[in-house]
Amino acid sequence: MSFVHVRKPFRTHAADGAIASLAIAATLAGGLGLHRLSGVAPSASLFSFAIMLVAWSRGIVPAIFATALTVFVFKYFFLEPIYSLSVRVSDIPQLVFFALAALLVSFLCDSERRAKRALKDAKAKARANEARLAEIQRELQLTIDSIPAMISAYRPDGVHSYVNAVWTDYTGMTLDEVVAAKSAGLFHPDDPERAAWQASLASGEPLMTEAPIRRADGVYQWFSIRRTPLRDDQGRIVRWYSIGFNIEDRKNADNALRDSEARLAAAERQLRQTLDHIPILAWRTKPDGYAEYLNKRWLDYAGFTLEDSLGWQWMTVIHPDDLPGLQSTWTKMLEAKVPGECEARMRRADGAYRWFLFRAEPLRDEVGAVAGWYGTNTDIEDRKQAENALQRNQAYLAEAQKLSSTGSFALNTETGEHFWSEQTYHIMQQPLETRVTTDLVLRCVHPDDRLKMVGELNQALEGGEQWDYEIRLLMPDQSLKYLHVIARRVTYEAGHGEVIGALMDVTEARKSQEALYAAQSALAHAARVATLGEISATIAHEVNQPLAAIVANGQACLRFLDRREPDLGNVRGAVEWIVKDGNRAADVIRRVRGLMTKAHFEKSPVSVNEIIEEVEALLRRQLDARNVLLRFDLKDVPSIVADRTQLQQVVINLVMNAIEAMQDITDRARILVIRSFRQNTGRVAVAFDDSGPGIPDDPEPLFDAFFSTKASGLGMGLSICRSIVEAHGGRLWAMPNPARLGAVFQFELPPEEANERN
Ligand code: ADP
Repeated sequence: MSFVHVRKPFRTHAADGAIASLAIAATLAGGLGLHRLSGVAPSASLFSFAIMLVAWSRGIVPAIFATALTVFVFKYFFLEPIYSLSVRVSDIPQLVFFALAALLVSFLCDSERRAKRALKDAKAKARANEARLAEIQRELQLTIDSIPAMISAYRPDGVHSYVNAVWTDYTGMTLDEVVAAKSAGLFHPDDPERAAWQASLASGEPLMTEAPIRRADGVYQWFSIRRTPLRDDQGRIVRWYSIGFNIEDRKNADNALRDSEARLAAAERQLRQTLDHIPILAWRTKPDGYAEYLNKRWLDYAGFTLEDSLGWQWMTVIHPDDLPGLQSTWTKMLEAKVPGECEARMRRADGAYRWFLFRAEPLRDEVGAVAGWYGTNTDIEDRKQAENALQRNQAYLAEAQKLSSTGSFALNTETGEHFWSEQTYHIMQQPLETRVTTDLVLRCVHPDDRLKMVGELNQALEGGEQWDYEIRLLMPDQSLKYLHVIARRVTYEAGHGEVIGALMDVTEARKSQEALYAAQSALAHAARVATLGEISATIAHEVNQPLAAIVANGQACLRFLDRREPDLGNVRGAVEWIVKDGNRAADVIRRVRGLMTKAHFEKSPVSVNEIIEEVEALLRRQLDARNVLLRFDLKDVPSIVADRTQLQQVVINLVMNAIEAMQDITDRARILVIRSFRQNTGRVAVAFDDSGPGIPDDPEPLFDAFFSTKASGLGMGLSICRSIVEAHGGRLWAMPNPARLGAVFQFELPPEEANERN
């Protein structure tokens, strides 16, 4: 037995001392009472009993205190000398013996008290431990059953010795059932777990595996399984512990992930294939423009590998002249984060450069930040070539228009829109930005020609097909400009059409032509004057004689008649001479006319229409100067056999007569219509319808020689015309023009076939 000194608090010590003192005092009181009653001094054993009580109840220290107190009390009250503390020597051994005995008893009592208390404490502790253990066990079981894992234990031979609630709930089997079934049906038949487990049992190595385990309803779910052996001191396996986590969801998620990854990879493969095979060069860059993908076509075109062209290396295939422009556009796009495009030449694998259109679009993420750029390069070489060719053609055309003073124009007859080429603006002396309208066109035209222009424009609107006319412009500086306009209607495939034409500034040509006309008309005039002179000379020469003879004979007649007796015989003779000479003069004139008409006859097949057009050209100046509108109504007539010059002279004369006849007309338009047609008789006729003053009811005198109503007229024109027409086997006559209040002069000639028959 070991003495365990337990330090007690002071209060306990005080209590111990008080109880010890009380016990001794009580014993003393009892002993004194007994002593008084019986006179017998109390025995030491009474005090021993009190000390034992103190030792048993309060421990050894109070007992020692009680013993010491007892020795004093005993001596003082019961040993001689009573009531004194002096001790007789003979009493000392008794007192020592008593003290020792009391101490021994106290010690024994205290030891027993301690042993009892220790036992009691140990029992209480054991009870508490048991309760705690039960509590821990309950908790452990609860924990094991609550862990969402299948927990089991095996005997060293692999037979189940424990399964938790999760295990039982999942498999639907109790421990006894699984032991009886020897774990059969627990794992999937194809499961590799069995072999691995057998190997672990044999080797004692821990097992880590995944396997499908059958659920109570027969469905297999995947578990991650860990099995570890527990060994004893000698290293022998006494037990295996196993834990299985359900990983079905993870497995499914893994499978789904694998599936979706596979699908994604397939889609990516497909996308890449598509991107690689679309007939366009495509690429992708990082947000900062770093190229991270270029499709196969791109690489094939440049003859590069992907590594060769990543980043900024693609720039090496850009034509050096185009690179700065492309770089600047690309940088601006990257900074502004907006789509854009640019054209540049790219070097092909064989070294040839082709034009491409670079287009790129930023790809934005959910928050709108640029996540990258997608771009394409489209081959525009053909378009570029066509553009260049077009530009070249346009330049050629513009130059040609400039050189030839020819402008082009178009008029959309549906919308009324006009288009002018640059040269047209130049010719019309209008600023390039001027909007062309019908009004503007009319404003540019000479006031006298506006009616004509309106007519031409109306024809365009009414569906005319072709135009070929001349028109005058009145320039701001009041100068005249002559334009020759040629146009035709073009109908496009889409159905709509427009009038497209060219206008040529023929002012210079017209001026020189006018000079020519002037020279021609001067020549014609000279010819007429010469003809007249010739006629006059002939008349003078030929007629002079008969006239002189007539005059002489007339004078002789007068003399004969002046005699007192007129000599009528001589008068008769003289008058007969006068008649003869008159006839001679008439003969002379007839001969001269005959000479005029028959001379220089060079007959050949001619077209009257051609002659009319030639005369129009010759007389254009006079027509314009006198504001005469000349119209044609020329039918397809057979040619005739005639002297071209003489026939021309006839036409000139008739046109000039009409122009001169209309010069005083102001109340109506001065219109001359020249018609060619074939008569029922088969003869070719040409009529000149004017809007002049008209002719007398009997127009025949007009054809007489020297008949003229004009101040400076010779009166020979119609007479000679008739002679010429008749000399060609035709006829010339005049009649009123009911349509225009004017006159109609018309001639007819036999056609060429008729001449051939003759
Ligand atoms: P000239 O022209 O020299 O007068 P012509 O013989 O050509 O001689 O004409 C004779 C006349 O006939 C003219 O003076 C004119 O009075 C008349 N005449 C000719 N042509 C026309 C015409 N188209 N309309 C009216 N009168 C005409």
